Amino acid sequence: MKSIPEYFGCMVFNENCMKSRLPHETYKAMKKTIRDGKSLDISVANVVANAMKEWAVENGATHFTHWFQPMTGITAEKHDSFISPSGNGSVIMEFSGKELVKGEPDASSFPSGGIRATFEARGYTAWDPTSYAFIKDNTLCIPTAFCSFGGEALDKKTPLLRSMEAINKQAMRVLKLFGNDDVTSVKTTVGPEQEYFLIDKEVFLKRKDLMFTGRTLFGAKPPKGQELDDHYYGTIKPRILSYMAELDEELWKLGVLAKTEHNEVAPSQHELAPVFTTTNIAADHNQLTMEIMKKVASKHNLVCLLHEKPFDGVNGSGKHNNWSISTNTGVNLLEPGETPFENAQFLLFLCAVIKAVDEYQDLLRISVASAGNDHRLGAHEAPPAVISMFLGDELGEILEAIENSEEYDSKEKTMMRVGVHILPKFPKDTTDRNRTSPFAFTGNKFEFRMLGSADSIGCANIMLNTAVAEELRQFADELENAKDFHTSLDSLIKRTIKEHKRIIFNGNGYDDAWIEEATTKRGLLNLRTTPDALPHFTKQKNLDLFKMHKIYSEVEVNSRYEILLENYCKVINIEAITMIDMASKDLLPAMSNYTKILCDTLISKKTACPALPCNYEEKTANRMAILTDEAYEQLLMLKEEVAKVTSFDDTLALAEYYRDTIISRMQSLRAVVDEAETITSKEYWPYPSYGDMLFSVK
Ligand code: ADP
Ligand code: MG
Repeated sequence: MKSIPEYFGCMVFNENCMKSRLPHETYKAMKKTIRDGKSLDISVANVVANAMKEWAVENGATHFTHWFQPMTGITAEKHDSFISPSGNGSVIMEFSGKELVKGEPDASSFPSGGIRATFEARGYTAWDPTSYAFIKDNTLCIPTAFCSFGGEALDKKTPLLRSMEAINKQAMRVLKLFGNDDVTSVKTTVGPEQEYFLIDKEVFLKRKDLMFTGRTLFGAKPPKGQELDDHYYGTIKPRILSYMAELDEELWKLGVLAKTEHNEVAPSQHELAPVFTTTNIAADHNQLTMEIMKKVASKHNLVCLLHEKPFDGVNGSGKHNNWSISTNTGVNLLEPGETPFENAQFLLFLCAVIKAVDEYQDLLRISVASAGNDHRLGAHEAPPAVISMFLGDELGEILEAIENSEEYDSKEKTMMRVGVHILPKFPKDTTDRNRTSPFAFTGNKFEFRMLGSADSIGCANIMLNTAVAEELRQFADELENAKDFHTSLDSLIKRTIKEHKRIIFNGNGYDDAWIEEATTKRGLLNLRTTPDALPHFTKQKNLDLFKMHKIYSEVEVNSRYEILLENYCKVINIEAITMIDMASKDLLPAMSNYTKILCDTLISKKTACPALPCNYEEKTANRMAILTDEAYEQLLMLKEEVAKVTSFDDTLALAEYYRDTIISRMQSLRAVVDEAETITSKEYWPYPSYGDMLFSVK
């Protein structure tokens, strides 16, 4: 058996592969393309395509595909085989530079939010050479961006690449001011921690709600949930261990740096964290990770649930987006430096992030908004919907001292002055772990904790990169024109802290008093649900931001706004219809049937001996009969309310209707049915219980 370093990345057309398989000149041209993001000459692309094909065929590939990330939230691929007729009824294996560089899938079946109505149905995919090609399922996958023929982005990769370019441009301006002449580019880095549930496939297949919607729509609480805290970091069961081992192996072959695995808080919940990498690669890898997680689970007779809230009453799943900015010379710009001058640079970048999070709270909130994630945010298991930043006490005190030109270190009685003092190294979030903050500084990076487990990390990082790029642009404008760099820098940092410190909060984010303080005293936004958040997308300040940095045109913003709203409505609609189906076909008949069983028993007992006590049968049958009618009533009302959705013209009004009317009706129906479950004999209940599901892996 090969060792891990031997097989790591064996399914990736990576740097080593290119070096050994491409002619030297082509390799150099390719490197330049990867570094500068410039397009390849077609003659060079032909050579690269041929080498890729040879390598892919040697590794068992028969097909190639442009692999892209449309607005569905998952990846898309259309396979073409390499075969080409060569006369005499035989074939050769071919792959041209043209096929590598550009594809033309029919875009009409992907969400476009109205863009297609005004433009052509066709779309095109364009190779992203900064993310390596790889082999999956005997198919050579070429990571690509997906656009309409009018050039509008129809995917999550295009704007992400644009945002990385924007932050590169502005950060470089700032770095020049600090004399970093050796730096030629800046990239953001991300390490996403991915949570997920694993349950037994057999149990899964008996639950229509899990199959159709990814979450349970009915289900009474089990006798045991997560209250004993015995699952978090607990010993991993052998069946899960063997799943994790195979998952690692598959991911390593694909060059994904899977690193940490452990059990999470809820029963059956687990987490995987990779080593961080460049943002667009991290985004591709996270998509791949989610896909491989599901695939490997199936081989182990398990099902991997990536929904944000598969089970009520226990924690849902999120994704922590650890984010930082690094130079091509390997310097992490969010790491406090060794000298006062480096510290001044660190503080300026820190201020850019503080200002960005404060001014673009709405965009960060939008970047994690979905029907699934609405169940978690603010539910005391994930950060609240109010965005704030955690800096820790030490950094918080330093900023305060800088703002007020006050003494910081009580022992040395020093005045904290930008560019004069050396900052202490901050403990990396080990002792000072605040788990309740949406956006926490963890020593040398920020951890954005609001993402849902099923989200692409694309959206969050587009917003973060762009917002920070904008602040860096403003800083660079001001400092480039400064008469005295140090004086201006000092006052810029002080001013930024003063104006934006309202976003900094080091306390308990789950506390209701904080929400009160945040919204009334500090004026922070509390965008509780997706329909609350999304309308902020098209605010003028946000349109200006996207336009300034060439991330989205107004048409693209409007299209995304529509897609997100429509998606929210569709998800809830499917859930409502699934509930109607389950209640009508399985649950109400079961409830009615069990009532009959109780009544039959009651009659038998009375007939056999009129003196026999029948309290259980009588009282339970009575309660069941009441609940059955109540459930029926709720079901009829839900049906009626769902039928009304066709009368809405406005998508936002429709989304609000789903949130306010349909969701609450679904909850009412569920409450009645869940009570019935608690008094029904297991034998007569049509679905596996919460206990069966949460403890399905022995
Ligand atoms: P935790 O204590 O939250 O598990 P870790 O230190 O293990 O934190 O890191 C969590 C994630 O943060 C990992 O994916 C790690 O690779 C990533 N990470 C570390 N440094 C950086 C960085 N500079 N930029 C982006 N992500 C980073
Ligand atoms: Mg973490």
